[in-house]
Amino acid sequence: MTIKQSPLPLVELVVRSKKIGADQSLVVYGGGNTSSKGEILDHLGRTRQVMWVKGSGADMMYGEERDYPALYLDDLRELISFDDLDDETMVDYVTRALVDPTSRRPSIETLLHAFLPAKHIDHVHADAICALTNHPGGAKAVADALGKGFEYVDWMIPGFTLSKIVSKLKDSEGIVLAHHGLVVWDESSDKCLEKTHLAVAKADKFLDSLSVKPVAAFDHGDMPQSELNDLLLQLRKKLGKKQILRTDHRLAQIASRKDCQRVVASSVSSADHMLRIRPKSALIDISLPAESIESYQNDYAQYFERNKANIQPGFSSHGNDPKVLLVPKVGTITTGNSSQECLMLADIAFHTHSVAARVIDSFGEADTIPESEMFKFDYWPMELFKLASKPAPAKFAGSIYVVTGAGSGIGRGIALELGRLGASVTLADLDEKGLEEVQSVFKAKKYLEPLLIVGDQSKEEIVSKTLSETISQFGGLDGVVINAGIGVSDNLEDLTLEKFRTGLEINLTSAFLMTKGAMQILRKQGLGGSIVYIASKNAFAPGAGFGGYSVTKAGMLQLMRIAALEGGSVGIRANAINPDAIFDNSKLWEGGIRAQRAAAHGVKPEELEDFYASRNILKVRVQTVDVAHSVAFLLSDESSRTTGAVIAVDGGVSAAFPR
Ligand SMILES: [Zn+2]
Repeated sequence: MTIKQSPLPLVELVVRSKKIGADQSLVVYGGGNTSSKGEILDHLGRTRQVMWVKGSGADMMYGEERDYPALYLDDLRELISFDDLDDETMVDYVTRALVDPTSRRPSIETLLHAFLPAKHIDHVHADAICALTNHPGGAKAVADALGKGFEYVDWMIPGFTLSKIVSKLKDSEGIVLAHHGLVVWDESSDKCLEKTHLAVAKADKFLDSLSVKPVAAFDHGDMPQSELNDLLLQLRKKLGKKQILRTDHRLAQIASRKDCQRVVASSVSSADHMLRIRPKSALIDISLPAESIESYQNDYAQYFERNKANIQPGFSSHGNDPKVLLVPKVGTITTGNSSQECLMLADIAFHTHSVAARVIDSFGEADTIPESEMFKFDYWPMELFKLASKPAPAKFAGSIYVVTGAGSGIGRGIALELGRLGASVTLADLDEKGLEEVQSVFKAKKYLEPLLIVGDQSKEEIVSKTLSETISQFGGLDGVVINAGIGVSDNLEDLTLEKFRTGLEINLTSAFLMTKGAMQILRKQGLGGSIVYIASKNAFAPGAGFGGYSVTKAGMLQLMRIAALEGGSVGIRANAINPDAIFDNSKLWEGGIRAQRAAAHGVKPEELEDFYASRNILKVRVQTVDVAHSVAFLLSDESSRTTGAVIAVDGGVSAAFPR
């Protein structure tokens, strides 16, 4: 058996594309595309000319050989004789030219690459190139910056017609597509990349020579964090759904410009940014945030109404909400299901709005593609296809929860379950090592990166830090799981005051503080919320010698009931879980408590798990994951009609039936 060697042009293509993809000033997140041409032996052993081109939606930074499907070049070139070809038919023809019909769908710009004869072709959506074209004098600026050898093509949606136009310019040095990007080519892969870099450098130099720094017209000073947190809660309330709001300061100066409205009006720098960040961003007036969102929503709704006659069958409005908010003194706030998604949007917004500002500063005014063209692209099935292949969002996508005592035992199990369900979580514990271990499991399992807070949750400043950092990091709060606690053993006559007070502080005062802080935030945010208390079977069925503990858990249930009463009118729900005898990875049994409880029940310490299992009705061991499932239920909307309730997760202990 011979090992199949990859064709050199493909190897070169992947290497070159990774270099392009690593530079966000050239392409962002799946934008742009590259190709190479060469020969292969087909399935019948015939030598065939092929072209490898980037797959639709593939990201050049991470793309491997499989992300660059091969197509039979003669099948593609045959199409140049057509006068016209609609998108669907074009995709159909292109798909039939695939060497391997099961490979990923090739770029929508495949024919642009096929109709040009060059061996290696780069097509990037470079910032500096877009800055040259996004104003009324684009054609002249391109000639001035890049020289007469470069051709300029007015905006046109990608597809067959644009590919034919480009094919006629094959004798030029390269082509600039207005409001879109650059196309260059060469017989050598390295030279091709060099040409891309050279054109972009020339554009940069030209822009720098023109740039007039805006008059000092921006508000200086950053917004204080507490003010920003309030703003985040108001915005999340107005947007009205569980999602992450991520703050990014890179655009602080641009967002603070007096003429930022002109930057926003310039729309996106390269049309394909629209797919992720929508045609426009929302400019927020920090004294009237809700009104700013409303005004954006009204504008988008009107734009949709004006243009909806041109929508393709089977498509409906993307909704009226912005994805990117430009906030003076802050920068951007982006919205999504995870911080990573928000970062992607912030990266794209950074490039798109920096280009717009640069255009205004270099040429005095910016322009954008006509609204009808914008709508055509905004609702272009060929671009929407890239999004359609995304998996459905996880159950807790966009949800934000705090779990205390998350470094071990039940809290750890709850944290992992919420992570598995796609939540963004803050994990709090005294035990830093424990938290780091949980964090490493999150990483290994590819859950969303948690925020870690090390500290004593019975201290008011730590609770307030936990909550405020959660808002700063994720943009809001949907619920808390109050789980931190310790065991307190000893008969009452032997129990020291110090031990009793420590139990109260750690198990009950901390619960009070977290309830108080969380309710204040949830009320302000106005989206309801869920507080889950991890109490204990002991709250209903206490055990002798365990009073210091049982008292705190009974107090916790009463706290839960009051929270349910006081929070109900604004949709804040409060419920408790009573677990019993959970051993996996729990520290509750350390410090002699296992031996003490075993002695109390007249069994050996190592027999304690089986003893507890034999004592419950279902004769089962109870584990952290069992508690975690109930927590997920109580946090989710599945329990939206339940508050003030106690769920026993104890295998069934009749003396502890909730009542
Ligand atoms: Zn493009």
